[in-house]
Amino acid sequence: MYKVTLIPGDGVGPEVVDAARKCIEATGVKINWEKVDAGADIMDKYGTPLPDKVIDSIKKNRIALKGPVTTPVGIGFRSVNVALRQKLDLYACLRPCKWYPGVRSRYEGVDLVVVRENTEDVYSGIEFEEGKPETGELINFIYTSTNVKISDDSGISIKPISRRASERIIRFAFDYARKNNRKKVTGIHKANIMKYSDGIFVKVFHEVAREYPNIQSEDKIVDNMCMQLVQKPALYDVLVLPNLYGDIISDLCAGLVGGLGLAPGANIGEEIAVFEATHGSAPKYKGKNKVNPTAMILSGVLMLRHLGEEEKAERLENAVARIIAKGETVTYDLGGTATTSQMAKAIIKSLK
Ligand code: NAD
Repeated sequence: MYKVTLIPGDGVGPEVVDAARKCIEATGVKINWEKVDAGADIMDKYGTPLPDKVIDSIKKNRIALKGPVTTPVGIGFRSVNVALRQKLDLYACLRPCKWYPGVRSRYEGVDLVVVRENTEDVYSGIEFEEGKPETGELINFIYTSTNVKISDDSGISIKPISRRASERIIRFAFDYARKNNRKKVTGIHKANIMKYSDGIFVKVFHEVAREYPNIQSEDKIVDNMCMQLVQKPALYDVLVLPNLYGDIISDLCAGLVGGLGLAPGANIGEEIAVFEATHGSAPKYKGKNKVNPTAMILSGVLMLRHLGEEEKAERLENAVARIIAKGETVTYDLGGTATTSQMAKAIIKSLK
């Protein structure tokens, strides 16, 4: 019996997490779920979107299945998702983007894996607000040390990229490639402009790549990479990126394989792993039982693999693939009219 923390999240989170939980249980795996709440809906009750008991439960169980959580834009509380990844040092975000037969998409056969650094970059949360005294001090410091004058009405976000964090995420990508018989790892950066931050990332990428002579490696500048991916996705395999580019390219790659409804993910640390879809809380669909549960169910497949339950993971992934291929009981984004729960039920019925 496994013990797993279950975080329904907010927005469409509870609907897709419920669907995923039922599909996971239908494989026969024995899980004792410990449900804890996080997100916008519990702010009034707890005064925080991320109560300590959420962190405590994940630390204890070392594994969690998590629904999306809303982050206010521009104002309000900091991202629960970013806080969780930083507090638990879940440094690797693994996001497979695989095309399944039956999905209407621009390309068939796309099979990419995005490996995103999860702990630093502009997501470090080091920000200086416009007009604050400390922002003025920083602007003065930058002027005296570099002779560059930042406009006084600026807000500033800091982008740290370290050798240590770059090395462990790049090593994670190469190890993943080796274990999963992947041929190539592409390191993505903008080191032509950010020579001291992305510069470290690309330098470490080539150092680590030398230790994996059987895996092809190349680096690409992020803007070129975007164009390459939309034109020739079949040329790429495993992609490793700093945090911000990883966030953006994850959604791009999800778009290549049929949309966010199909893109699963995992946040992985040395000892703890939190499984969640790439998509967010899609607030306009909240409570409508309408969105695609596949991304969350496939996150459950990644969780089963992480637990060593390969056969159950395989059966669940095959059941998802069969329902998508049949195309009869699929949600709106796949051209169908099924609800979230109807699609999950069909997947459970199709489990062999
Ligand atoms: P989103 O991913 O929630 O939704 C964007 C659009 O993608 C939706 O309007 C919908 O058209 C489509 N979509 C998303 N999930 C789908 C699904 N399962 N099936 C079918 N279609 C789906 O992105 P957003 O609207 O930019 O963000 C909403 C909120 O979610 C924000 O507050 C954001 O911060 C948060 N967010 C949370 C996470 C997380 O919890 N890990 C990740 C991304 C965004």
